[in-house]
Amino acid sequence: VRVALLSIGDELLFGEIVDTNAAFMASRFYDAGASVSRHLTVGDAPADIAGAIADLLLHSDIIVATGGLGPTEDDCTAEGAALAAGVFLESNPQALALTRDFFLRRGVPMHPANAKQAELPAGAEIIPNPNGTASGFKLKIGGASLYFLPGVPDEMASMFSATVLPVVLAATFGVTGTVTRVLKVFGLSEPKSEEAVRSSVSARAGLRIAYCVNFPEVQVKLRATAADFTSATAMVEEACAEARTGLADHLFAEGADTMESVVARLLRERHATISLAESCTGGLIAKRLTDLPGSSDYFLESVVSYSNESKTSLIGVPEGLIADLGAVSGAVAEKMAEGVRRLAGSTLSLAVTGIAGPAGGTNEKPVGTVFVALADGDGTEVKEFRFAGSRDRIRTITCFAALDMLRRRLLRR
Ligand code: ATP
Repeated sequence: VRVALLSIGDELLFGEIVDTNAAFMASRFYDAGASVSRHLTVGDAPADIAGAIADLLLHSDIIVATGGLGPTEDDCTAEGAALAAGVFLESNPQALALTRDFFLRRGVPMHPANAKQAELPAGAEIIPNPNGTASGFKLKIGGASLYFLPGVPDEMASMFSATVLPVVLAATFGVTGTVTRVLKVFGLSEPKSEEAVRSSVSARAGLRIAYCVNFPEVQVKLRATAADFTSATAMVEEACAEARTGLADHLFAEGADTMESVVARLLRERHATISLAESCTGGLIAKRLTDLPGSSDYFLESVVSYSNESKTSLIGVPEGLIADLGAVSGAVAEKMAEGVRRLAGSTLSLAVTGIAGPAGGTNEKPVGTVFVALADGDGTEVKEFRFAGSRDRIRTITCFAALDMLRRRLLRR
């Protein structure tokens, strides 16, 4: 199946928004074994939309367009689609009823302008939108199927998954099977990850391995294509097993798992609790851990201890230690971790102190110097890091490094 994407909207061409819709759909198609071969972006002009559809029809069996289905004058996707199909716009009773119903359920009167959202190309088949006023629609032009979905990302995503994806999966089923697995690595650079995978995974016809950095992790994507889904799954699973050996404990998560979801699972499994004392990360580790629903099972408390006074008065770091060694030091990180653990009564605690920059570095402790301490009943481990990059990157990688220390400790427990 040849798939094409059409992104519609002036905002996209002006660089005001990033096209996350196309990225979302392309990755879903890729996972389903139907790669996108073309992707166009056009502004809100009927002639441009019609022209883009005509272009894409030369190379595609399926076109998925997003955007421009709203009630305002600049939303003209339906008009462009009608032009491309050579049909008139007509008021679609089903779309009108759905839009009316959307307002009714909210107890808000429908604005007359919303009736425009039911003006669709003759012959359009409605794709209901439970989360918004704009129905999507499907149109056949020649042998190709065209799907028009709203631009709002969550509306688009649920409609895409309910209507477009099953059709593509059905069309590819039995012809070829493609299965992709993602392994997530921390602590190895991209080339080192490749080296580790190359030395452990045997080459196979139909197996492709790609590497990409999603800072600060490296993602190893193994994609197997075979005559059918079962063979492709078997191939990718075998290759993953080999890659796991090569990547060893640098492999922290797979698929949809993240560093924090893995840490959360380990904390739960080990009936352990965690507390934090954060200086240079300003609460980012706490945010990441509490982003997950149910985090109160293991997350007890976090202290954002930024000033020297707070380190002393709140978590009991000796004043003299800060005066002698500086707030950014291994000994202070150690006392921060031990202090917050005592305060919270948690099984484990993490503390970070560092220089995120851009100012504040010295020859001895340049920007990017970070100390992470991890305490539990058996003692306290401290690590020193020298990270590079912007303040944002240093804070992000510090969170990762701290959570990775916790992950490794939990794996050993
Ligand atoms: P609405 O009914 O809200 O008007 P619509 O189908 O007309 O929906 P647009 O008006 O084109 O969609 O876009 C609505 C919002 O959705 C935009 O302001 C933008 O924030 C977001 N959006 C549109 N297209 C994309 C895209 N390709 N990627 C990410 N976000 C998008």
